[in-house]
Amino acid sequence: MRWNVALILGLVVVLSTASLSAQKRPHNEVSQSRLIKETQVQPGGHDCVDVVWWVPLEYWQVAFSQNKEMTREQRGEFIDALRSYFLLGVVRAEVSPMGQFRFAGEEDDHQGLVATPVDARGKKHILKRPREINVQTRAVLGAIRPVLAAAMGPMGKSFHLYVYEDQDEKGRRMASPYQKGKLVVELQKLGKLPASKAEFETPLDCLFVPRKCSQCNKEAHVSWNYCPWCGRKLPKWEAPERPGSTTTKPEPAKGPT
Ligand SMILES: [Zn+2]
Repeated sequence: MRWNVALILGLVVVLSTASLSAQKRPHNEVSQSRLIKETQVQPGGHDCVDVVWWVPLEYWQVAFSQNKEMTREQRGEFIDALRSYFLLGVVRAEVSPMGQFRFAGEEDDHQGLVATPVDARGKKHILKRPREINVQTRAVLGAIRPVLAAAMGPMGKSFHLYVYEDQDEKGRRMASPYQKGKLVVELQKLGKLPASKAEFETPLDCLFVPRKCSQCNKEAHVSWNYCPWCGRKLPKWEAPERPGSTTTKPEPAKGPT
């Protein structure tokens, strides 16, 4: 009997501390503009413009799922090819007192860029840049550049895209927008451009179905612990997937990058 009481008490404790696993929003329902907003930071100062855009795999999954001109096979092919990478788009410019821009070039040693993923426990991970990039990723990079140039003019033309390995040797994600952590991008001093820093806190809110406050029924941001309107404690947030989700890595294409 005593054992049964202990078991019931144990269950009560487990139930009272239970957390709800966050529910991912389907890719075709994620707002692309919100996703871009949550993955772009402008850390620059007065006399300069710095824009850093983190492009995780989910950006492509969202964009392709909403592109009616792509077939399911094309989507699958590109996603498989992009799966092991993420991109950082960076534009840096000095702004003269007359308001003229002088953009930093790609040749300027990666524009002084140092990116570091930090996991939920605060551990910093070291990123690698791939030695070779597969042909589909090169096609995507080639397609983005004119789009950025058309949308943003000279700034878009000066947007440089850098490819990073998004998986460690065990196939674990380096920077997942579904997991707790952050991606820190430091822009070092470059000529007259001062050093600056962009931080992307994860998880990204737009990728989840919003939790609702049980008291006032308002939607809660993924990073909130308490409802800001009524003060109610929100269900504990729990990541929807294990960080070590492995994927098959596509063969890199041979040839010049
Ligand atoms: Zn509330």
